[in-house]
Amino acid sequence: MPNPSHTSTLHCDLLVIGSGAGGLSAAVTAAKLGLKVILAEKDPQFGGTTAWSGGWMWLPRNPLAVEAGIVEPIDEPLAYLRHELGDRFDEHRARAFLEAAPRMVDFFRSKTALQFIDGNAIPDFHGRTPHASLGGRSLCAAPFDGRRLGARIADLKPLLPETTLWGMGIASGAELRHFFNAMRKPASFWTVTKLVLAHWKDLLVHRRGMRLVNGNALVAALAASALEAGVDIRTRCPARRLLRDGERVTGAVLATPEGAVEVHARCGVLLACGGFPHDDPRKAALLPHAPTGKEHHSAASRGNTGDGLRLGETAGGRVATDGEQAAALAPVSLVPRADGSFAHFPHLIERAKPGLIAVTRRGQRFTNEADSYHDFMQNLLAALPAGEPVQAWLVCDHAFMRHYGLGAAKPAPMPLGPMLANGYLQRGQTLADLAQACGIDGDALQQTVQRYNAQALAGKDDEFAKGETPYNRMQGDTAFAAEKGWPNPCMGPLAKGPFYAVRVVAGSLGTFAGLKTNAHAQVLDARGQPIAGLYAGGNDMNSLMAGHYPSGGITLGPAMTFGWLAAHHAAGQPLPI
Ligand SMILES: Cc1cc2nc3c(=O)[nH]c(=O)nc-3n(C[C@H](O)[C@H](O)[C@H](O)COP(=O)(O)OP(=O)(O)OC[C@H]3O[C@@H](n4cnc5c(N)ncnc54)[C@H](O)[C@@H]3O)c2cc1C
Repeated sequence: MPNPSHTSTLHCDLLVIGSGAGGLSAAVTAAKLGLKVILAEKDPQFGGTTAWSGGWMWLPRNPLAVEAGIVEPIDEPLAYLRHELGDRFDEHRARAFLEAAPRMVDFFRSKTALQFIDGNAIPDFHGRTPHASLGGRSLCAAPFDGRRLGARIADLKPLLPETTLWGMGIASGAELRHFFNAMRKPASFWTVTKLVLAHWKDLLVHRRGMRLVNGNALVAALAASALEAGVDIRTRCPARRLLRDGERVTGAVLATPEGAVEVHARCGVLLACGGFPHDDPRKAALLPHAPTGKEHHSAASRGNTGDGLRLGETAGGRVATDGEQAAALAPVSLVPRADGSFAHFPHLIERAKPGLIAVTRRGQRFTNEADSYHDFMQNLLAALPAGEPVQAWLVCDHAFMRHYGLGAAKPAPMPLGPMLANGYLQRGQTLADLAQACGIDGDALQQTVQRYNAQALAGKDDEFAKGETPYNRMQGDTAFAAEKGWPNPCMGPLAKGPFYAVRVVAGSLGTFAGLKTNAHAQVLDARGQPIAGLYAGGNDMNSLMAGHYPSGGITLGPAMTFGWLAAHHAAGQPLPI
């Protein structure tokens, strides 16, 4: 019988706390550099938000881009960041990141199970900012065969069910397009059928899908590499407090199912607990739109309750409070579950497709729906009068609904009935009916749609310039718009009822504000001096972007890179940065 009052002791070189990209990158690297590594994860399964993510990493000058002939001097992405971050640009850290990123990719590509696919056609978010790129600054984890994890596949966090089809992840890009076109194009139907049948076979044999994609592939490949390199990955082991010898951090106490374990770590501790997306007091303090914290519905993993930030503060670390935004904002809808709880569904994909608008309760548009999720939310916050609940409605017609789906309500042939019955999806035969069901100003909504439809047919959004940046257009649907004769890949008319709406509220993909660190990911004290033996990674580290969101992948790219840098420093092999 375990004795919870008994404290046992373990020894290692590096203790990593948290098993997302921030933690796993450091753990794998440190083990490959010869350190004995323990990785402690609080949840029953490893992977955190990273396992739910798109798996895209912003890594300018990466080797896959270079191999494809996209070669840019460091000054290009540096200048883009300088323009985007303004006063908050930290050139030293930015340069360290940009110098290290390509080397980090080389390291993982050549020494581990993690492989990458290129993002050579993926533009930066803000195409009008000088030095924005049209592609080549990002990478995604390549699909990974879950069987390579052996029995430990059971410990891999599965995807958020609401974002999947029967638990199956869908890779972004061509694969996702096949799913949207499955009911329209025989080739897409055939591709999707093969994928679904293979997935069902996996469910029968393994009780889960084994063809892992996106963030799930990233975590699985990193975890497989960690295990292969001897990292001791322990789940259900929340870190409760840090151990110190004078000012130096020397380990942590873990609360394990068998009782407390003191882990003594010769080279230090890396905090990578995924920031504070579910820490109400910290959200209340740092997010003005969430006065009690509860008004912010993050789509991040629920175990991310700010532990790393609090642990860091006990050792003298400081959480930055001066960022432009403390979280990576995203519109989120609340999906009722059978047990009475709500899943937090982040709207990352359908907003830019032709035939959707977003309106406030006044029935008016407030933003370019095809811009990034963060910009969408910033513009919603700016459009609402102070004190008004943060909410908006995504509105589309029947043809759009069956082609792309709306949030957790899936496209044809999946039925809409359950999502209508549980109140997630609102439907009206006319726009007036829909407006009434949602509590939106009906006259204004009809005028908005009338104006929008005319603009869509003309291909020009006179109000918000939708479809005018490379990022907008990539997120739109060029082929479908062309088929329909719509000049703008992000704009189509909302033509024929029934019409549908889903309410979105304030949420995020994770948090930006974190422990202040230097370029080696060492946590800094109040005087700006490194605290010996203490590192922060992932979203426990204050974002290099200082609360700005210049491109997709700006959390996972730095998480991977600074994890790699931290491990080198902890191993006594700091990189010259
Ligand atoms: C749907 C979705 C898509 C996204 N897509 C992208 C994308 O494509 N690119 C991108 O850059 N970002 C993306 N993001 C954001 C990104 O996933 C997160 O910012 C990132 O995963 C954070 O990594 P992390 O290592 O800091 O934390 P996580 O991956 O969340 O890992 C933190 C881990 O720490 C554990 N933990 C917490 N407290 C303790 C404790 N006391 N002891 C031990 N363990 C603890 C948690 O349980 C968790 O497993 C996406 C987010 C979502 C929700």
